Amino acid sequence: MNVNPAPLALSEPAPRSLAGAQGVLVGLSKAELAEVMTALGEKPFRAKQVWHWIYHRGATSFGEMTDLGKELRAKLENNYTVGRPAIAREQTSTDRTRKWLMAFADGQKAETVFIPEEDRGAVCISSQVGCTLTCRFCHTGTQRLVRNLTAGEIVGQFMVARDSYGEWPTPTDERRMLSNIVMMGMGEPLYNFENVAKALKIIMADDGIALGKRRITLSTSGVVPEIRRCGAELGVNLAISLHAPDDDTRTAIMPINKKYPLKELMAACREYPGLNNARRITFEYVMLKGINDTLQHARALVKLVAGIPAKFNLIPFNPWPGSAYECSDEATVNAFSDALYSAGYTATVRTPRGRDILAACGQLRTDSERLSAKEQRLRDEQERKIAEDAWQEKEAAL
Ligand code: SAH
Ligand code: SF4
Repeated sequence: MNVNPAPLALSEPAPRSLAGAQGVLVGLSKAELAEVMTALGEKPFRAKQVWHWIYHRGATSFGEMTDLGKELRAKLENNYTVGRPAIAREQTSTDRTRKWLMAFADGQKAETVFIPEEDRGAVCISSQVGCTLTCRFCHTGTQRLVRNLTAGEIVGQFMVARDSYGEWPTPTDERRMLSNIVMMGMGEPLYNFENVAKALKIIMADDGIALGKRRITLSTSGVVPEIRRCGAELGVNLAISLHAPDDDTRTAIMPINKKYPLKELMAACREYPGLNNARRITFEYVMLKGINDTLQHARALVKLVAGIPAKFNLIPFNPWPGSAYECSDEATVNAFSDALYSAGYTATVRTPRGRDILAACGQLRTDSERLSAKEQRLRDEQERKIAEDAWQEKEAAL
């Protein structure tokens, strides 16, 4: 495994100004934006122009919107902000993965990660500050839920990532560096369905950011009723954090399984619209040593998903300070993957990215209490040290 706790490229840009008490435009639907224009005494079509500036051109201020009259720009400036989250911290891993700690108008924070490939890449977006669920292997799960993120805060994370790579205006051909979105950051997106759906509709709108539904994957721990809504209203790709093939094992590591056991979860998966061989559900499976990683587990998985167009994504467990599990060893992961392949399923092993900056799956966490910049730095430094030590130990053992 390629884990190299090399020195960090850490930079701390000055936070941009926060939104204050003004209204925020990012996150409004087209109809709501038209209402804003009407309230300002303008014709609703002005909303189209503003939308284009914000989501196609990436404008961060009204001053840039040169085809709006001076008077309208002044009115907008006095009453609204475009409404990007501020960057409280930006870190870039030795493997080029980039992580931002975003600060929202009320001071709450969440993390966003960009995972670059050769000529494309996925932005991993958070849906909540913290999480109500307590999956035992997940760092975010140790943090209390503070609040849901708004639609604007969800869209804003993607926009800040695009700012960082200068990917504005929205590329009109297929080539984009920030080519995909995975709703796999902090929080359970289906426990914040309204805001997530509103945000994704804004992101998908073809006269703005224009990212198609095939390029968006929503990951859920299995909130069954909302899986149905997600399929009907959004039709994005679905990933299920499965992690175990039987109720006993799954309930022990994912308490949500008590509420929505596997039988119900699999029924919702079977009904997910638009599935076929080219469009499958991704079953995520974190490899936990001695817990869920035997060949019997693999065989039970194959039975469980029978009939569902499925692929597996095996995630080596990423440790975090205080975590109680170990990652299965490489031979076990490979044998598990082989067993799924020989049953006819794709079972890729996810390469951990950004472990040196705690940006890999399940490592995201922000402090629910607010700390001073100095306290935060100390805390980050301690956590980084603990994570590095854990990885050095693991590397030595492999
Ligand atoms: N709440 C949603 C979205 C988070 S996605 C969900 O649970 O699906 C993050 C993915 O990383 C999920 O599949 C999650 O189960 C997995 N994960 C959590 N902690 C992990 C860890 N320590 N190592 C590897 N994967 C982890
Ligand atoms: Fe929440 Fe997902 Fe982490 Fe579970 S794995 S605690 S649902 S963020």
